[in-house]
Amino acid sequence: MYRLAAAQLDQTAERMGLDDNIWERLRTPQRALVVSFPFRRDNYATVDTVFGYRVQHLLTMGPTKGGIRYDLDVDLGEVTALSIWMTWKCALMALPFGGAKGGVRIDPHSLSRSELQRITRRYTSEIIEMIGPDTDIPAPDLGTDEQVMAWIMDTYSQQKGHAVPGVVTGKPIEIGGSHGRREATGRGVVTCLLEACREIDLPPSGASMVVQGFGQVGAAAARIAVQHGAKLVGLSDVSGGVFAPGGIELAEVDRHLAESGHLRGLPGTEPCTNEALLELPCDVLIPAAVQNQLTEKNADRIRARLVVEGANGPTTLEADAILAERGVTVVPDILANAGGVTVSYFEWVQGLQQFFWSEQEVNDRLIRLMQRASKDVWGVSRQRGVGLRVAALMRGIERVAEAKRRRGIFP
Ligand code: NAD
Repeated sequence: MYRLAAAQLDQTAERMGLDDNIWERLRTPQRALVVSFPFRRDNYATVDTVFGYRVQHLLTMGPTKGGIRYDLDVDLGEVTALSIWMTWKCALMALPFGGAKGGVRIDPHSLSRSELQRITRRYTSEIIEMIGPDTDIPAPDLGTDEQVMAWIMDTYSQQKGHAVPGVVTGKPIEIGGSHGRREATGRGVVTCLLEACREIDLPPSGASMVVQGFGQVGAAAARIAVQHGAKLVGLSDVSGGVFAPGGIELAEVDRHLAESGHLRGLPGTEPCTNEALLELPCDVLIPAAVQNQLTEKNADRIRARLVVEGANGPTTLEADAILAERGVTVVPDILANAGGVTVSYFEWVQGLQQFFWSEQEVNDRLIRLMQRASKDVWGVSRQRGVGLRVAALMRGIERVAEAKRRRGIFP
């Protein structure tokens, strides 16, 4: 993943004629911390060694900001790539943050609630010198949620001796979270989807849609897109995919998930693998699970007209080229899933002011910022004759480069 993030930067920097010195600086993170710690299982006899990471890519723009993921694939390269994308995302959205990311190499689904809490508290105490409301502010990502953020906030606050809600975003509302944060990434995905539909003359109402991943991002995106008239025909989670050309009822999905905990066996649908799901005939495909899903192996079989990247890094460079050649429009991750960090920014601002907004206010502001960024990226793409990904990267990178030039070099 790091190689993908670096190659995207290189490709864009070359096209932009970016200053070599700034280019070189942006290829590597400013700070990276790797920790290992003992973790006692509920049975008390077993103690595992667990690895955790926190990477801050760029400290030029303000505090750093980025999620924490719990996943077995987490490593330094992955977390670094994600921190680099956070930098471009924040700059593209004109948010006053640099990029960061963190992660713990565990399978969160194999842990009890108390195990998850112990890991979270120990990981927080291991990275405590790096995070803080003015320095580096974590948020939820793959495998983490509001509850994990609440434990991080509590652990940090215990060490400081007073409540510090601003140390994380994506918190529960009761401890300073923002209305609308839970659905923010999905709402941003759908705002970009609607903007793209307008650009490519695809009526969103009645458009058939496939969503990979039914977590925080995928579930919210599916729900909001359906409210705009899209027809959900395929859906998946880690257990596999389901499809129904006549449409999948979200109420039925909720009922089935509450009973079984997974999508497999959803009544009224046919089963399919996650690989086959991506190749289903549809107008819109939303990868909202994990990275490296659209590759040179399957890009020529993707039948969607429009791909909106809910996940980070779902498309490889090779697949990008194949999809572009085939006329498939890809709305890139750093734009499409920027709704999460945007409402995280709103949460941070509300916390600093101790003045909280209504859900309507949060959603309206989010949609306005997402539309502005979308139009900006489509405009750059047209003006400079580049694809949407390169256009979004150009916008982000040029803002960062200009800030670096203004600040100069110390000493
Ligand atoms: P999540 O843990 O809430 O949900 C992930 C979903 O993907 C689950 O349904 C899971 O079963 C499924 N999944 C996991 N592995 C899979 C696989 N190999 N194949 C198919 N499905 C799989 O995570 P999330 O927060 O929704 O994050 C999903 C993606 O969106 C990640 O790439 C994350 O970095 C990105 N993202 C998340 C946010 C956010 O606010 N949560 C913001 C921006 C980007």
